[in-house]
Amino acid sequence: MVLSILNTEQPVSLIAEVALLSPPFVTLSYSLPKVFVPEFWKVGQRVVLPLGSGVRIGVLLALKPQTEITNNSQTKDIVLKDLIWSLDKKSFFSESYLRVLIQLSHRLFLPIGQILASVLPIGLRSNQLKLCVFNGQKPKKYTLKELRFFDEETYRKLAELWASGQGGIIERNINTLENELCELCVDPPWAVRPSAKRQIALLELLWENGALNRKIIQDKLGAEANESLKRLSELGFVKVRPAQGEEAEADEIQKIWEKVPLNEEVSAFELTNAQQEVVDKLKDSLDTHQRSSHLLHGITGSGKTVVYLELLKHCLAQGRSVILLAPEVALAIKLKNDLQKRFPQQKIILSHGYQTPTLRESIFRQVSEAQEALVIIGTRSSLFLPLKNPGLIILDEEHDASFKQDEGLVYQAKELAYAIVQEYNAMLLLGSATPDIKSFQATKQGRLTLHSLPERVGGGTLPQVELVDIRHLTPTDGILAKPSQEALLETINKGEQAVILLNRRGYAPLIYCMQCSEPIKCPHCDIALTYHKARERVVCHYCGYNYAFPAPCPTCKSLNFVPFGEGTEKLEESLSGILPPDVKILRLDRDNARRAGRMEEILAAFARKEAQVLVGTQMLSKGHHFPDVTLAIVADADLGLNLPDYRATERSFQLFVQSAGRAGRGSKAGKVLIQTRNLNHYCWDYVKSTDFSGFFEVELQKRKRMKYPPFTNLALIRLSFPVEWKEGYKAMELFAEIYKKEAETLDVAVLGPAPAPLSMLRGRRRYNCLLKAQNWQHIRRIFQVGLQSNPFKDKIRMHLDLDPVNM
Ligand code: ADP
Ligand code: ZN
Ligand code: ZN
Repeated sequence: MVLSILNTEQPVSLIAEVALLSPPFVTLSYSLPKVFVPEFWKVGQRVVLPLGSGVRIGVLLALKPQTEITNNSQTKDIVLKDLIWSLDKKSFFSESYLRVLIQLSHRLFLPIGQILASVLPIGLRSNQLKLCVFNGQKPKKYTLKELRFFDEETYRKLAELWASGQGGIIERNINTLENELCELCVDPPWAVRPSAKRQIALLELLWENGALNRKIIQDKLGAEANESLKRLSELGFVKVRPAQGEEAEADEIQKIWEKVPLNEEVSAFELTNAQQEVVDKLKDSLDTHQRSSHLLHGITGSGKTVVYLELLKHCLAQGRSVILLAPEVALAIKLKNDLQKRFPQQKIILSHGYQTPTLRESIFRQVSEAQEALVIIGTRSSLFLPLKNPGLIILDEEHDASFKQDEGLVYQAKELAYAIVQEYNAMLLLGSATPDIKSFQATKQGRLTLHSLPERVGGGTLPQVELVDIRHLTPTDGILAKPSQEALLETINKGEQAVILLNRRGYAPLIYCMQCSEPIKCPHCDIALTYHKARERVVCHYCGYNYAFPAPCPTCKSLNFVPFGEGTEKLEESLSGILPPDVKILRLDRDNARRAGRMEEILAAFARKEAQVLVGTQMLSKGHHFPDVTLAIVADADLGLNLPDYRATERSFQLFVQSAGRAGRGSKAGKVLIQTRNLNHYCWDYVKSTDFSGFFEVELQKRKRMKYPPFTNLALIRLSFPVEWKEGYKAMELFAEIYKKEAETLDVAVLGPAPAPLSMLRGRRRYNCLLKAQNWQHIRRIFQVGLQSNPFKDKIRMHLDLDPVNM
């Protein structure tokens, strides 16, 4: 008999606890249908359950004996409903995986169902699934809801078919048309007839968001958008393709990288003594199969990647999987390619947030079903893939802010990775040239083991750092001071390359109206609009609001404006005035790297030396290796140093050292010029001598004095309400009282709620309440009290951000 999953004996005495994958995301108890044997149900399966008059999908978290439940007086009299079906014959999630996420849910104060829902690709949790059975030749499909209302006999019959392997396939109901991905093929300005307003609106939408599903476009622009899409794709402005083609696209991006000349070193080379020593120690640690956590502090160009690769190989040989995280997609792709060249036989999975739901779904399944050890390379969200046996997690550039997600599911990848290695007895390796101060502190306290690579491979020296005084520069002088201009020319005349970092995209960050004497602002965010010359538009960098410019002032209708300040776009333009006409300049920022693959194209072109100068935002300070760059200029160091954030100096220090790390990586010596008005800032001595521990010590003392992390725990409660809701201000006062009252009994300092630095966003007023405490538990307690006593649940949104990265 094949029907081993069908039940013939009675009674079933287990109770299932199931987390809902849709609002309200609660965990509910269900009884098991008598048709299936109890062993059919496994923790970690996705199941179909009845709720109200419909059906939902949930994840089975636990199976408990009935007695355990009935002893609990609260649930004694409740008659439980039966689960309906299971979507997976095997568990989709392991118990270890669920334990890690449950721990995260406690930490973040979110129901586990909500966390599971945000990590599962839509196709794996959609109610639109269908059961497909082959009775005879013809496949028959049933919606999940139909399953609920079948009579006993039909239900049993379907179960028999399912059990006997006669189908029982769950199919996704993909509406392919809605899932189609639309993306731009051209850069602005759009040469469309100005009358085609709808077409321009669509181009702008794609420009701001990158590739979008047809469905999302329709939601935003209405059904007419289909007409515009058709026209624009005929004109070759927009490419529309089935979402399934994503795998092919990843290949395309890789092909671009493959055109980058091979660093001869990528082929075999001997490890340096320093590398060998670190590798040996870490391998020994891996061999013990005990959980351990390490920080690799290796200066820029010291060859950290090789250390990762050696360990990765070792871990795979033990039959355990490896996750390698990079701070951004382009770096992940580059790592994947380097790795693939060294291990041509190894299957490597690339995973990041820009993949379509369809691709993410297939990766999720593949990882969940894999029997062999896997290598996953990707960005922070890769940590949520349901790996069976991780042995090693590496975070490269561990100081990078992108490891913290601060919208939606607010989590820090380093903490999540730490929780995973604890659960699986695995190894965590954080690597950076400029470690996070918290990580550094953790090495002093013994929570992380410190390893160092203090020298550049091949004896290359670190570049010489000089400050350039820009106090005298006026807005009309342009942004580069004389000494910087001269150094730039000199570098180019020698046939070498230079990078210029300016952490501000667009043309002019402010457009002043002469008549109002005010900059033009976003009506939704109260933030100055940035002028983008190539696009002929002004744009809000926070919410994307934009309109064609020049246009009359929205307040006074005057046409008299002065652009103020300089962004990357203007810098690129003014450079062509300073440099000889044959010098090629490339720009890399979020504007021109918007289209898929563009960033890779730009970086690859620069690596091939098709341009002498690369201008860009901090995107270009990260990890890229250009051997012929001998000059790096930080155009405005004060932008970061003056931010109202206790981490401003640490972040700036990291940025300067990383930028310096782009210069002099080949055989030639490099130079770094930092333009600043803050010549007396205490960080310069340490930047110049790249004295990390010196900087860390001073910074730690300062943090201790000011009671900032790592000497205390910091959290933000982020509150917001609709702009038009007049009672909002009163409500914030009420919350201030609630929090302060609760804090009296706990050891927590409460500041606020006060208007957030970005006080208005997307039509909502934003407030922050800063909590400082020794104990995370106390912080969570205060948040919980506010949550429970919120009388305006439909107006006020609040969420808890532990150890906020963006204040
Ligand atoms: P970083 O520590 O900045 O990440 P990389 O890992 O990018 O440094 O290494 C810098 C360069 O040095 C790369 O081109 C790499 O191939 C090369 N390299 C690393 N280790 C060695 C070695 N032992 N011998 C020769 N070249 C090496
Ligand atoms: Zn805005
Ligand atoms: Zn005006």
